[in-house]
Amino acid sequence: MPSPIIFHVDVNSAFLSWTAADRIARGLDSVDLRNVPSAIGGDPRTRHGIITAKSIPARKYGIVTGEPVSQALRKCPSLILLPGDYSLYARQSQSLMDLLRKYAPAVDPFSIDEAFCDMTGTTSLYGDPVNFARILKDEICRNLGFTVNIGISSNRLLAKMASDFTKPNRVHTLWPREIPQKMWPLPAGDLLFVGKSTAERLKSLGILTIGDLARAPKNLLISQFGRHGAQMHACANGAEMPDLGPRDRKIRGFSNEITISHDLTDPEEAHLILLSICETVAARVRCKEHRIQVVTVYFKDASFVSFSRQCQLNHSTSSTQTIFETAERLFRELWDRRPLRLLGVRTSRIDRETDTYQMDLFDQGKRKKIDQLDAAIDKIRDKYGDASLKRAVFLGADETNLKKRRSNHSKNTSKSPIKP
Ligand SMILES: [Mg+2]
Repeated sequence: MPSPIIFHVDVNSAFLSWTAADRIARGLDSVDLRNVPSAIGGDPRTRHGIITAKSIPARKYGIVTGEPVSQALRKCPSLILLPGDYSLYARQSQSLMDLLRKYAPAVDPFSIDEAFCDMTGTTSLYGDPVNFARILKDEICRNLGFTVNIGISSNRLLAKMASDFTKPNRVHTLWPREIPQKMWPLPAGDLLFVGKSTAERLKSLGILTIGDLARAPKNLLISQFGRHGAQMHACANGAEMPDLGPRDRKIRGFSNEITISHDLTDPEEAHLILLSICETVAARVRCKEHRIQVVTVYFKDASFVSFSRQCQLNHSTSSTQTIFETAERLFRELWDRRPLRLLGVRTSRIDRETDTYQMDLFDQGKRKKIDQLDAAIDKIRDKYGDASLKRAVFLGADETNLKKRRSNHSKNTSKSPIKP
């Protein structure tokens, strides 16, 4: 049996890189956005919204993902801002996965910009895995115009940890024998699936590094964190994370979420965030020529406690309107106005668009019209960018925002309301 070799391929600052590569390919920019302070987020004209990706030079100004655009602009007034373009991301992601499938026997997309490649048994074909990873990374850059990090190890958890070492455009190994030297000195919070609050609790137990976690008595961790404690202990010692295990490669659904950098309490703002999430999720469903049957809304409150609610639709859909209406109803039922820090929508139970689906006899005409409208919107956005077509509700939001901002300004407060 050949020993397992796993690559974790992770696009560097994906949304920003993809936008930069696309704009260069289309001759829109003479400077590479990756080399100057730049970010993706919100509407550059109204300067509202949240930063969803930033360049490495922008990072040097202390700009972080999830912070309001207005705050980022205070940190770096010359920041170049561009709007999100989810149909572009879906296409770039697809090109990456297609290229990986040319070389890897098994590719398992993990998120829109990450994939695990099982390279076990390929050394006779490709030679040394580290050399081959370098060739693969350069091939991606040459063909697709963006850089990736590749982490290599014998399991997924370690490969993913390795791809997160220094960036960008790097290949790193984290073989089990390298764990004490490369992984144990890292802060415990850097271990996959160790969240902020867990890291804080570990700190209070005197566990600061992944090495401390690996050497801590397993029983202590179990008494404090239950099953998760045992899992953290095993992973700190190099075991595979069960949730990362090889999955059925069939797509199970599409989801998107937004981390909000302030406490979200305004129902109007929640409505707009939910709508923008549904727009991106539905566009991805249609881009893959799928329909979905289940819509789930989930959120985390200010203490990062999670809540979710889901609903099975009467028939499968790829319509933004249906997904949004369902998500909003679920959200209204679930939300008790507690302050929120994260909001997301997940769709699942997929039908291929070509599959037969149950027709609602009384709804056929309406449904066809909605499908045609969505297809037309996708086409225009594909060609001219996401900002080219806007729902009236977003236009209204901008106006309200401007008004609010003006009145805030007159009161001489520095806080401006943020809308997606
Ligand atoms: Mg990435």
